[in-house]
Amino acid sequence: MKTKHSNKICYEIYCEIEKCSWRLYSKRINPTDEFEIRTFNSVHTCSSLEIHPNHKHANKQVMGTILHEIMRKTRSKVWRLNEISRDLNALFYKQVWRAKQYAMELLLGSSEECFSKLPIYYHNLKKHNPGTVAYIQTDSKDCFECCFYGIGSTIQAFKHFCRKVIIMDGAHLKGYFKGTILHAVAMDGNN
Ligand SMILES: [Zn+2]
Repeated sequence: MKTKHSNKICYEIYCEIEKCSWRLYSKRINPTDEFEIRTFNSVHTCSSLEIHPNHKHANKQVMGTILHEIMRKTRSKVWRLNEISRDLNALFYKQVWRAKQYAMELLLGSSEECFSKLPIYYHNLKKHNPGTVAYIQTDSKDCFECCFYGIGSTIQAFKHFCRKVIIMDGAHLKGYFKGTILHAVAMDGNN
């Protein structure tokens, strides 16, 4: 929160986010030292995802509590800032990784969904690209093993216009099911 007035007569605070309507206004009851809350709008209209860089209370206390747990285990150690930063990074790495996976799922759908779309994708690939080769190989339990596709036009281009050399490159999939994508690249006379 941000303080607008803090004096002997009134105390008024706002949400850190400018357009948010969260607000508290209180005034001293004369002639006492007591304050009365006149206005309290307790609902934040700002997004909880907005970053509050000046969230000093939460930062110090939340991070400090976590840090305390780490530091307690090796009391004799002298803790340097870069070590603390490294330890906190390690501690949150998995959570950040999971959060990223979840965000990717929201963006692209889950790995399960993507794999389940392969047959219909291959069907349409072949239907709309003449000469396309595409197949999915499954094991004895009908589980996905591997798949292959070559777009018809690229097969024709390779046959007629490229040097008879295929260059292979691979990329490891980091999703839940892992796996490797292999790419075949060809070059024409102009490289
Ligand atoms: Zn707010």
